[in-house]
Amino acid sequence: MRAMVLDSPRQPLQLRDVPKPKPGRGQLLVRVSACAVCRTDLHVVDGELPNPKLPLIPGHQIVGYVEEIGSGVNSKFEVGDRVGIPWLGWTDGECAFCRSNRENLCDNARFTGYTIDGGYAEFTVADARFCFDRYNDVEVAPLLCAGLIGYRSYRKTGDARRLGIYGFGNAAHLIAQIALYEERQLFVFTRPGDTKTQQGAKSLGAKWAGGSDEMPPEKLDAAIIFASVGPLVPAALRALAKGGIVVCGGIHMSDIPSFPYADLWEERVITSVANLTRHDGDEFFDIAPRVPVQTKTETFPLEQANTALDRFRAGELSGTAVLTIGR
Ligand SMILES: [Zn+2]
Ligand SMILES: [Zn+2]
Repeated sequence: MRAMVLDSPRQPLQLRDVPKPKPGRGQLLVRVSACAVCRTDLHVVDGELPNPKLPLIPGHQIVGYVEEIGSGVNSKFEVGDRVGIPWLGWTDGECAFCRSNRENLCDNARFTGYTIDGGYAEFTVADARFCFDRYNDVEVAPLLCAGLIGYRSYRKTGDARRLGIYGFGNAAHLIAQIALYEERQLFVFTRPGDTKTQQGAKSLGAKWAGGSDEMPPEKLDAAIIFASVGPLVPAALRALAKGGIVVCGGIHMSDIPSFPYADLWEERVITSVANLTRHDGDEFFDIAPRVPVQTKTETFPLEQANTALDRFRAGELSGTAVLTIGR
């Protein structure tokens, strides 16, 4: 099969002919139809995340069709079914985290397109227990990570009425739609001077949009940071009302500068989000069609994965990049 392969970080992916994988016990062999590109793919390719599997086929927002079912799969899937494969690819089901419904923190978790091969290829194998079947359109590829992990970040804000979002990229665009559907007041922070993105946020329904160096017109009950920029953490903290929470939604962030304790005092909270649970997925795919969450995409053929990554890195995409592979 054709695949885009990372031999080592900070090098372009190589188009290769590699053996088609065989489904092991509990796995599905999936013919990949589309694979959306996530910022985490950039962090992996650029060497910002430690110890990826090498060589590696990246990609963890995979939509495809079941081609073959491995032994021991007792699930809803049949050959020909459309499936979605997310970032969380396998957990042991046995550690203290798994046994307390926090499989996203599993000690031995494996991650699609990072510690196991992903979807920048014609075929992939995936553990059937972690696949989703809850949607009906290839356009949902971007929902599988930006949507799911964004949703976990959003849920951590509780019932915050005034919600700030720092970094208005793919995840923010999806989560903003759910926040507005749930009648939250939305305050969007972009790179200073990025009036185009600020306009876009306002036309979506944000109450206010401005630069990340500005203070919002009122204090916020919660803020989610989707940009991988550490100095945004104390900035967001200063924008919070008492008891507010800052949720860091990314897997990687530059260092957070020190800040006065007074900015944290009065029960303000800083937390992060790691990975997703299957429960998050079930909830998200329940609410997404009711909103309904709209995705913006730009498609590229598999062979142009490097172009997609380069344009993502340079901030030149107008939507989520999606590699179109089969069908
Ligand atoms: Zn575990
Ligand atoms: Zn991702």
